Amino acid sequence: MKFGTKAIHAGQEPDPSTGAVMTPIYQTSTYWQKSPGDNKGFEYSRGTNPTRKALESCLAALENAKFGLAFSSGMGATDAVMKLLVPGDEVITGNDLYGGSYRIFTKIFSNYGIKFHFIDMSDANHVKNYVNDHTKLIWIETPTNPTMQIVDIAAVAAIAKENDILLAVDNTFASPYLQNPIDLGADIVMHSVTKYLGGHSDVVMGALMLNDEDLYKRLWFIYNACGATPGPMDSFLVLRGLKTLHLRMRAHCENGRQIAEFLKTHPKVEKIYWPGFTDHPNHDIAKKQMRDFGGMISITLKGADLQETYRIASSFNVFSLAESLGGVESLINHPVSMTHGSIPKAERDKVGVTDNLLRLSVGVEDIDDLLDDLKQALS
Ligand SMILES: *Cc1c(COP(=O)(O)O)cnc(C)c1O
Repeated sequence: MKFGTKAIHAGQEPDPSTGAVMTPIYQTSTYWQKSPGDNKGFEYSRGTNPTRKALESCLAALENAKFGLAFSSGMGATDAVMKLLVPGDEVITGNDLYGGSYRIFTKIFSNYGIKFHFIDMSDANHVKNYVNDHTKLIWIETPTNPTMQIVDIAAVAAIAKENDILLAVDNTFASPYLQNPIDLGADIVMHSVTKYLGGHSDVVMGALMLNDEDLYKRLWFIYNACGATPGPMDSFLVLRGLKTLHLRMRAHCENGRQIAEFLKTHPKVEKIYWPGFTDHPNHDIAKKQMRDFGGMISITLKGADLQETYRIASSFNVFSLAESLGGVESLINHPVSMTHGSIPKAERDKVGVTDNLLRLSVGVEDIDDLLDDLKQALS
């Protein structure tokens, strides 16, 4: 099946008890057993729930994976991957990560004896310098948040395979419509489902998709034992959101391209970060591993201090000033004070997350209204 068909149908059958075409919201915590152990495959909803199960099959199909696991947030999904590790293990990861990922690595898992190397991954070969006998996991984010750096997934996957290291890819920014890390050699794909997959800014959820059955069993054990699993109502909302993922992504990409082109030559814009430009440092890799370039764009404002950046960020009418991304509505974010506040200033400055940086999540409104809003806010 092709992507759009999977987004609408994968994992979903008419409901066996009523024939309902849409997967029902099985709002139950527990399931009847005829005699102990004699049940229909469901015992307790922390571990399994029919609405969530349909969603997990659909999520897996979208990443060309065998298995999907849904979590109550993207951070819950990341947390489960980290719990595969034991004290003494080492992780190699990027130096431009989602702030919450940086925070859970440095403030939680570092305390449990796990060592993290935050490195520049724009050249995949650089990863080799940090591999040693303790390296158990490589964690990639691409495109990165917020500076849209691109990491060569296939090249890092080759290094991971050669050294028997797990490779996990945070695919939140691209969405499975634009990029499928498992096809490029990754072992685990992680999503903040909250973003493009849910797509309507009404659910917080995370997911892992993978092919290896043994690894799936280990992760399912953590998922059930630790319990960061989502409820049936949220699972239903995401199943509903997924049905338009392919339509939404096409519109995000088209609007994103027009806005990136408009901003590139705007006199108030100092730098623009968008992987679709041929002068983006890793444009060729983006072109190779992504089907299009998405609707996430960051800019720095020319000559703007923090006050002026705040003024501009607050002067939009169609774009909403808010955290998060990937919904149908356009959002504008000030990473330094919002999503990336938990990263120390010295670390932020190294990767260009400066006071005058704004990140746009381009929605699917009419492009003329979005362009007019940018014109008036930047005037
Ligand atoms: C939002 C986000 C996360 C965290 O997901 P939550 O659903 O907010 O817990 C992780 N990675 C990236 C790239 C994100 O944008």
